[in-house]
Amino acid sequence: MSELLRDLDFFNLDDLLTTEERATRETVKRFVQREVLPQVERHFADETFPKELVPQMAELGMFGANIKGYGCAGMNNVAYGLIMQELEAADSGLRSFASVQSALSMYAIYANGTEEQKNRYLPDMAKGKLIGCFGLTEPDHGSDPGGMETRARRDGDGWVLNGAKRWITNGSIADVAIVWARVDEGFTGFLVEKGAPGFSTRDIHGKFSMRASITSELIFEDVRLPKTAQLPAARGLKAPLGCLTQARYGIAWGAIGAARTCYNCALDYVKSRKQFSRPLAGYQLVQAKLVRMLTEITKAQMVCLRLAHLKDEGKMRPEHVSFAKRNNVNEALKIAREARDMLGANGIVNEYPVIRHMMNLETVNTYEGTFDVHTLILGRDVTGEAAFD
Ligand SMILES: Cc1cc2nc3c(=O)[nH]c(=O)nc-3n(C[C@H](O)[C@H](O)[C@H](O)COP(=O)(O)OP(=O)(O)OC[C@H]3O[C@@H](n4cnc5c(N)ncnc54)[C@H](O)[C@@H]3O)c2cc1C
Repeated sequence: MSELLRDLDFFNLDDLLTTEERATRETVKRFVQREVLPQVERHFADETFPKELVPQMAELGMFGANIKGYGCAGMNNVAYGLIMQELEAADSGLRSFASVQSALSMYAIYANGTEEQKNRYLPDMAKGKLIGCFGLTEPDHGSDPGGMETRARRDGDGWVLNGAKRWITNGSIADVAIVWARVDEGFTGFLVEKGAPGFSTRDIHGKFSMRASITSELIFEDVRLPKTAQLPAARGLKAPLGCLTQARYGIAWGAIGAARTCYNCALDYVKSRKQFSRPLAGYQLVQAKLVRMLTEITKAQMVCLRLAHLKDEGKMRPEHVSFAKRNNVNEALKIAREARDMLGANGIVNEYPVIRHMMNLETVNTYEGTFDVHTLILGRDVTGEAAFD
């Protein structure tokens, strides 16, 4: 096993995990070691997603892992979180794929679809035979999805969809897009299948972050949709926001994986690199950085484990998720930047994974509610005053 994937468990949190949860983590670790690490730098350099890994990820039950029924693994939320952690220890792009497939696309159908829609899509999505994407963000509306301009109007029994979505993970490789649109009654969601006349995608290139993940624009020009394309329980923005809560939950865990890889890498490096009279690890300034990293990773682990237990007990609030996503991603980003610094010039080359994680985490800090937006959500929670309406 790569030394970079080793666990960091200062407070023996493993004692709080079940045998199954630990086994799930080890299985994903082995998959990451065997299949992902050897090729992730190449995919990042080439701006490609390793699509050939999808069947294996499906085989391991990673898609819709915490959904019960419909061919999904039905794991608890600790196991689901550990999967996200280990995937992101390799690359945030891989975790993004799993998050979008599971927590955004499959969950959207699971929570808002008819039995017919669930049976049609979920089993094949769990098998990785169908890929999903989630189109909420638009070119002019990111943090404020309520401003969306994509519109669906009724046309006889069905609908006609017009508009554009931007920054959509998996957009051009998805077989089905969950598209959120304005309708006369407010907002709702639609299932738009690849190849629908008037529906096209265009990939976004030139990213310095999330390069091993596909990010696309979705364009809808008079796309005719049958009545059965609408997710009937998706009424209002609560529906997409409910999906985001699921995805943010996984991101809070995933960030720990990225931070842990950066910490492990920096620790190994400073132990072996000698400057002046001794290894870098022997200098107080370097130790202070390592201790800060250790502290923040450990705190993030504790937050996630408690969050998972609350989620399993049905007591998790969206604000708990905001707290965890905001804190864990921001701390992971700081850890990655600090590790990059500790590697000196070697910190800027892809011989080490640190700069890739650092750049990926810039996206993770922005998507699924920016750091500032989660600050506003928590600010509203503690004061009762919404500072962003
Ligand atoms: C690689 C990648 C993949 C993505 N994948 C998806 C996807 O699959 N599906 C999807 O729908 N979207 C996706 N997104 C979009 C992402 O969710 C948005 O980028 C995010 O919501 C922020 O929106 P924005 O980029 O328009 O920034 P803006 O909303 O314009 O924000 C810009 C800055 O202003 C700040 N800001 C905004 N509002 C306020 C306020 N009221 N007070 C103070 N500060 C404020 C923000 O915190 C931020 O710092 C992805 C983005 C990236 C980069």
